[in-house]
Amino acid sequence: MRITCVGGGPAGLYFAVLAKLADPAHEVTVLERNPAGVTYGWGVVFWDDLLDDLFRYDPVSAARIWDAAYKWDEYEVRAAGKPVTHLGGYGFSLGRHRLLDILGKRARELGVDLRYEQELTDPAQLPAADLIVACDGAGSRIRDHDAEHFGAEVETGRNKYIWLGTSRVFRTFTFGFEETEAGWIWFHAYPFTAGASTFIVECTPETWTGLGLDRLDPAAGAARLGKIFERHLDGHPLDDAGRGWLNFRRVTAGRWDHGNVVLIGDAAHTTHFAIGSGTKLAMQDAMALADAVASFASGGETLSAALERYEHRRKAALAPLQRAARASSAWFERMPEYADLPAKRFSYALSNRRGEYPAWRYLLHMSTQGAVPRTVLRWTLSARRWNRARRRPARRLRAAVP
Ligand SMILES: Cc1cc2nc3c(=O)[nH]c(=O)nc-3n(C[C@H](O)[C@H](O)[C@H](O)COP(=O)(O)OP(=O)(O)OC[C@H]3O[C@@H](n4cnc5c(N)ncnc54)[C@H](O)[C@@H]3O)c2cc1C
Repeated sequence: MRITCVGGGPAGLYFAVLAKLADPAHEVTVLERNPAGVTYGWGVVFWDDLLDDLFRYDPVSAARIWDAAYKWDEYEVRAAGKPVTHLGGYGFSLGRHRLLDILGKRARELGVDLRYEQELTDPAQLPAADLIVACDGAGSRIRDHDAEHFGAEVETGRNKYIWLGTSRVFRTFTFGFEETEAGWIWFHAYPFTAGASTFIVECTPETWTGLGLDRLDPAAGAARLGKIFERHLDGHPLDDAGRGWLNFRRVTAGRWDHGNVVLIGDAAHTTHFAIGSGTKLAMQDAMALADAVASFASGGETLSAALERYEHRRKAALAPLQRAARASSAWFERMPEYADLPAKRFSYALSNRRGEYPAWRYLLHMSTQGAVPRTVLRWTLSARRWNRARRRPARRLRAAVP
């Protein structure tokens, strides 16, 4: 097969690797508009579920990613005016540059034709190929060119954010909240090498304009943020990679294929950074698409059936994470409402922002930590028992209906 991937991010490079591994006779080309070694952003986080999948699909690149990854082992919550709290959990992080370097090298070793500084400028003129993989990111030109067919919807988040880096190496994943004269502003920071951390700053639009961040150039803006977060940075500067302040754009495409064109990664769906999963999902898309293409190439099914199966498999896997991402970004949009909670309750509310735990389990956990009075837990458990008893006859009745 002749396969062209438009975009050399994690989705495109990893799919190219897997397609070549599946059949070295495939002619696989990746077109990337940036020069080699140039990309946006800083470190990204992931967990061992991604590592398990990576080792299953390509142990060689998985071992390199594992070797390069930085491991952190808890969440630290620093909210101004409250004692620092610690939440359990561990994860990994890796610089985007390093990840793309590992994947690019692996792709080249396997014989992928990797072409940098090759921008697809006219999506109406796609290169001749049996399969075009549109892995050109959240602003996908290929998707937008056929917007009606792909049914892309874009929802713009309310908060402002900026993806910065710093030479201050945080000990672990750290959330820091500061109250300014214009309202609350906070960061999500984590180390990704022994010499650097990601530092994402977020705030409401009112705080953003109130602090004058909308009017400052990048250097002055980074200096202003450095001053606000001074006590966390130990004199290290903040570095703006040049993308500036943005609002998160949640993109969802209704359909992911059109003839021989298929969307993967951020081109098909974006996932808010508050749950740190976009790269993982992009690479897992690549895995599912590689399985589908292998099935088509072996004569098992038509290309359109294989692409449809890929889409269904991925949409089912994405749904719970997208719900969690929505809940999580909504929590940060309402952050100022939680600011008056005592330290422990504030951090448990933060840790439960994805809305994954039922209220009673969350309260049980908080009460064992002394973060809510026992009476609140007793009321909640009684209400739960009463509710279940009320539903029991209806359940019995339903079971009796043939
Ligand atoms: C602030 C922030 C923090 C994040 N943190 C995390 C995290 O901790 N963990 C995580 O898993 N995810 C994180 N993400 C999400 C993650 O960055 C993306 O989900 C991921 O990069 C998607 O990969 P992709 O390959 O689909 O797209 P991209 O990485 O965007 O790659 C697309 C590529 O296509 C190229 N391209 C675009 N148009 C063209 C064209 N016309 N011609 C040729 N090339 C083109 C681009 O230059 C780019 O290299 C974060 C995102 C943000 C914004």
